[in-house]
Amino acid sequence: MIVIMQQAASKATVDRAIERIEQLGLTPHVSRGQYRTIIGAIGDKQPGHLEALESLAGVERVVPIMRPYKLASREFHEASTEVKVGSATFGPAGVTIIAGPCAIESREMLERIAAIVRDGGAMMLRGGAFKPRTSPYAFQGLGEDGLKMLREVGDATALPVVSEVLAVAEVELVGKYVDMLQIGARNMQNFRLLKEVGDFGKPVLLKRGFAATIREYLMSAEYILSRGNRDVVLCERGIKTFASELRFTFDVSAVPVIKANCHLPIIVDPSHATGDRRFVIPLALAGIAAGADGVMVEVHDCPEEALCDGPQALLGDMFAETVRQVDAVAKAVGRSVAARDK
Ligand code: PEP
Ligand code: MN
Repeated sequence: MIVIMQQAASKATVDRAIERIEQLGLTPHVSRGQYRTIIGAIGDKQPGHLEALESLAGVERVVPIMRPYKLASREFHEASTEVKVGSATFGPAGVTIIAGPCAIESREMLERIAAIVRDGGAMMLRGGAFKPRTSPYAFQGLGEDGLKMLREVGDATALPVVSEVLAVAEVELVGKYVDMLQIGARNMQNFRLLKEVGDFGKPVLLKRGFAATIREYLMSAEYILSRGNRDVVLCERGIKTFASELRFTFDVSAVPVIKANCHLPIIVDPSHATGDRRFVIPLALAGIAAGADGVMVEVHDCPEEALCDGPQALLGDMFAETVRQVDAVAKAVGRSVAARDK
């Protein structure tokens, strides 16, 4: 249920409502808006709960949330949420670009690519240190050494950094180095991992599982939110369908559907969706036209030698062109690529 407080409700009145929600065995999640406070009362709803809350002082209305995801729903939080990751912001203000290599291969390589993406207009640097590879014989990432490089190169270029965490036991380790933890498609329903990153507290980039419905996806976001971590950014990265021309099928419809039902920012990843650099720009543009809050793309300075995902990596000039075109489409729909201090 959501408990909508009256505009004039004082802090003491809100605190009393919170106390009562706890007494009923529900967990309160407070959202303080510009005009009024809304309290999500999450848990096992019993007969009489609604009436008990409605009769509290300062309560304007109590509304049951019909959707299975509560804290992620627009019913709980009508305005679009803004998530800050260091100097980068995801949300309605501007379109945000994350770019970098699929995997961190060496310090020199990361330095070169970070300079390229920074000059091309990225606001955040990505790079995998723990890679979820289909083959156990493929490059698995540099682990902690890679994370150290990412941190240092991120600092040197003034770009906040994001990297994937694969396991519960590695959340502390990855979390020590990054500004944002990435949960990959293959772990979208690793519920223990979702709880762990929820507890850890740093912003989370939650990618859509390639066989997940939108409802399942938002339930996964709910796991993180329910641990008190509000800083979740979603990412559509393609799903499995019968179409086999590309690596995955980019589900552009997920963007407006999620926007309609959920207040969290959503970005698109046309690199993994296509697996082919020739189609990265058109799908990035489609995502932005559909209302996405940002784009994440893979960039490499020598894709033919990349240890992971070379065919989909953009070269520097193509990346800069991506940002230019994304900005043009963003402007056509009343937004623009977020400005970054040069
Ligand atoms: C990635 O972004 O590095 C990645 C592995 O993507 P996904 O989990 O979407 O496959
Ligand atoms: Mn990749």
